[in-house]
Amino acid sequence: MQEIIIENKQKYLDENYPFVDIPKLSDQKLCIHCDKVIKVVDYKVIQIKSGHEFICCPNAPECNGTVIDWIDID
Ligand SMILES: [Zn+2]
Repeated sequence: MQEIIIENKQKYLDENYPFVDIPKLSDQKLCIHCDKVIKVVDYKVIQIKSGHEFICCPNAPECNGTVIDWIDID
């Protein structure tokens, strides 16, 4: 696994976010894996051996949560 540096984080989100409701970089979410509020702008992208890329919790690699583990906060 290695982290990939993303230059345009909003564009990457727009193109790779797995759900319809694409967050803004200024949004905050709760990561249910590490139970911390994260800023979307701080997300990391991790590439695994097969070449697949995952949008991960900013607290990776300590937290192995990915974008599907983020829930909205009010
Ligand atoms: Zn997390």
